[in-house]
Amino acid sequence: MVEEAAAFKITHVKESRVKQLDPENIVFGSLFTDHMLVADCIDGVWQTPEILPYGDIAYNPALASLHYGQSIFEGMKAFRNVDNEVVMFRPEENFKRFNISAERMCMAQVPEEIFMGGLKEILKLDSAWVPDGEDNSLYLRPFMFASDVYLGVRPSFNYRFMIIMSPAGKYYSTPPKVKIETEYIRAATGGVGYAKCAGNYAASLYPAKLAQEQGYTQLLWTDAQTHTKFEESGTMNVFFVQNGKLLTPKTSTTILKGITRDSLINIARDSGYEVSEQDVYVKDIVEGIKDGSVTEVFGAGTAVVVSPFSGVGFEGDDIPLPAITEKSISSVLKQKLDGIRKGKLEDTHGWVYKV
Ligand code: PMP
Repeated sequence: MVEEAAAFKITHVKESRVKQLDPENIVFGSLFTDHMLVADCIDGVWQTPEILPYGDIAYNPALASLHYGQSIFEGMKAFRNVDNEVVMFRPEENFKRFNISAERMCMAQVPEEIFMGGLKEILKLDSAWVPDGEDNSLYLRPFMFASDVYLGVRPSFNYRFMIIMSPAGKYYSTPPKVKIETEYIRAATGGVGYAKCAGNYAASLYPAKLAQEQGYTQLLWTDAQTHTKFEESGTMNVFFVQNGKLLTPKTSTTILKGITRDSLINIARDSGYEVSEQDVYVKDIVEGIKDGSVTEVFGAGTAVVVSPFSGVGFEGDDIPLPAITEKSISSVLKQKLDGIRKGKLEDTHGWVYKV
């Protein structure tokens, strides 16, 4: 059935595959919902977005994004709240960040009607895929790539924007042990660190693999110039608790401005904790963990909300952190953010977006 609904052309699947979804047994990123959204920007003009049955897309081997990497994405989640309604958390922030990434990668700006309108439309259609269960969600992946068929190095004239969605389950993990990286870098001043572009993730794989071979779960990146200041960790921003106060690196062109980071800063301040966005020096944190003044180091991002680290590796030494308890600041903040997202706590900032 093909239907023209508002600004979207919708082709429904003949039969839903939702019975493939087992909420008790979700493997992240491996199962996709019934539909996907596709919108093409041709020579600067956005065409009518289409919602289609999820499936393969075919491309010419000279596709520009495959060669020169004009490719960006966002990662966000939809949940079932306590009233069983489908909600998103601060999706307008992902929309804004997407277009900031697009600008830096010299790509087309995506209109709000397509990004936000598209998310709402496809979520309504595939709402049965938003799993029940305390730690389950539907992961939403808007992305865009250069679609010119041309091998010259220049910004593409044509772009394809898409949204795909995949159920996500509980993030089982033991607290990661992270290596303070002082050789490789994720981002340099004036580069693309603040953009959510595909190449940033490709560039991080090799140093992360080396760290894994040394027994670490992931990396804590330091600044490219001096390797003395912390930046972020894996696909998370990073927080430190020193003498009961929260410290987090101030954002810059080398750091992705995380929506979880901003939410935690607000929740922490609302809860009476002191939070400082500042330069955070490796030396101070390593000494602080050793003398007991630094009690928590944790990552913050959409995937896990808050991920407390078990210890850090620095110049070949492993420095363990105290075990996390329910009273730890990271546990308190996680509980509060989860509570707001799920509608258990009052949403004083207007962060929860009903679909
Ligand atoms: N840094 C990087 C490099 C990331 O990929 C992510 C995940 N988007 C984050 C930080 C955390 O951002 P957010 O809280 O918006 O998910």
